[in-house]
Amino acid sequence: MNTRRFDPPADPARRRLLKTAGGATLLALPGAAALAQQREGVPVGPRSTFESLVPAAEIEAEAARGYHEMLAQARAQHRLAQPENVQLRRLVMISQRLRPFAAMWNERAIGWQWEVNLINSPQINAFCMPGGKIAFYWGILAKLQLSDDEVAMVMGHEMTHALREHGRAQIGKQVATQGTIALLAGLFGWSNASRQVAGVGGRLLSLKYSRDDETEADLIGLELAARAGYMPQAAISLWRKMEAASRGAPPAFLSDHPSNPDRLRTIAANIPRVQGLYARAPKPDVRFGPPLAG
Ligand SMILES: [Zn+2]
Repeated sequence: MNTRRFDPPADPARRRLLKTAGGATLLALPGAAALAQQREGVPVGPRSTFESLVPAAEIEAEAARGYHEMLAQARAQHRLAQPENVQLRRLVMISQRLRPFAAMWNERAIGWQWEVNLINSPQINAFCMPGGKIAFYWGILAKLQLSDDEVAMVMGHEMTHALREHGRAQIGKQVATQGTIALLAGLFGWSNASRQVAGVGGRLLSLKYSRDDETEADLIGLELAARAGYMPQAAISLWRKMEAASRGAPPAFLSDHPSNPDRLRTIAANIPRVQGLYARAPKPDVRFGPPLAG
């Protein structure tokens, strides 16, 4: 019998986005005007109150389990890129340039065991699970012909979902919605539910993010990439490519990361906020470029 008590979030309906007078969507922010003036970069709102309902360490452990199961499956199907693969080396290098700025957004990231893998699959997809477990699918690199700057934007976006613990908040929200800790007990095997435990890792692989989470990932991702020396305007060209690819069947990426009509406008409005960071950032001395199309 587990007697742990969970306080409900104070204001679960609180929205994290504001419309400014000019109509641009900004992340918002109690006391945010002050904060925005103190720091250079995109404006950022408070974290979701839901994430406090589940322990970060448990979520990260389950994510690692789900990630390694996924890798084992890919390896068995001969779909896991080997360390010498040039596109994998490219992903690793870009992630290494972004990672030093991760702790600005989440102190836990200092202790994360970051991993980067490339899955040989035609899907247009990429993700970063809680705890820094990153995967890119070949399809997103090849079909969208992503430049290094555009890869950095995808990477920054995905890292932000992990750093701002959007997955943890989502699981927390499910717990709150169900109004019971029985679910939580099941999720983390506090009862003997090993089958359910395995399911959580899998669920963290296929989260569908909210539009607020998406906006936050776009903006913080933009800043992470700019600080790492990647051109902010690439965020615009990336999403244009994604939109073009979504004519016909929407890519897997967009079904997990829903776009909205304001996406490009919001990103464009925030580019000036990171332009100085980009201008001063050391630039990568190695450039890779996309794989040959086809
Ligand atoms: Zn996203």
